[in-house]
Amino acid sequence: MRLQLASGKQVVADKALYSVGRRGATDDLDLPAAGLAADARGRLHVNEHYQTDVSHIYAVGDVIGFPSLASTSMEQGRLASCHAFGITTNSFPELFPYGIYTSLECRWWDAPKSS
Ligand SMILES: Cc1cc2nc3c(=O)[nH]c(=O)nc-3n(C[C@H](O)[C@H](O)[C@H](O)COP(=O)(O)OP(=O)(O)OC[C@H]3O[C@@H](n4cnc5c(N)ncnc54)[C@H](O)[C@@H]3O)c2cc1C
Repeated sequence: MRLQLASGKQVVADKALYSVGRRGATDDLDLPAAGLAADARGRLHVNEHYQTDVSHIYAVGDVIGFPSLASTSMEQGRLASCHAFGITTNSFPELFPYGIYTSLECRWWDAPKSS
């Protein structure tokens, strides 16, 4: 198989795995109507309280980018909610826990059987 990349580079390989990464699902939200704009990957900019550039609109989770983990997204949501309702709370910890929940789903079907 010969792959032609957008850069013009050609890759010759037996198999290819194409991974596009994650992007915010903001295309259909009509962000300009709310006074907002997403970056090239559909992400929203927020400040340390998870307020977007329109201060009464908050954003948390994958749509704001790194670290894009389940546990951190949930904590961001809690902190944003507390800020929105004027509830005093701790800030985001410098170190955060994370767990890997996914089981391996990519298999090499035609790998030779070991003897
Ligand atoms: C393959 C994979 C494996 C991962 N493994 C791990 C892991 O092991 N550990 C870990 O911590 N994190 C993992 N993550 C990351 C984790 O899943 C995300 O960081 C987390 O789910 C982000 O939460 P979220 O609420 O921001 O977004 P999501 O969980 O994606 O929730 C967004 C929700 O909004 C809905 N939605 C979108 N657009 C609209 C709209 N216009 N109107 C209404 N609803 C809308 C979507 O349907 C969705 O239900 C993994 C992610 C992927 C893709």
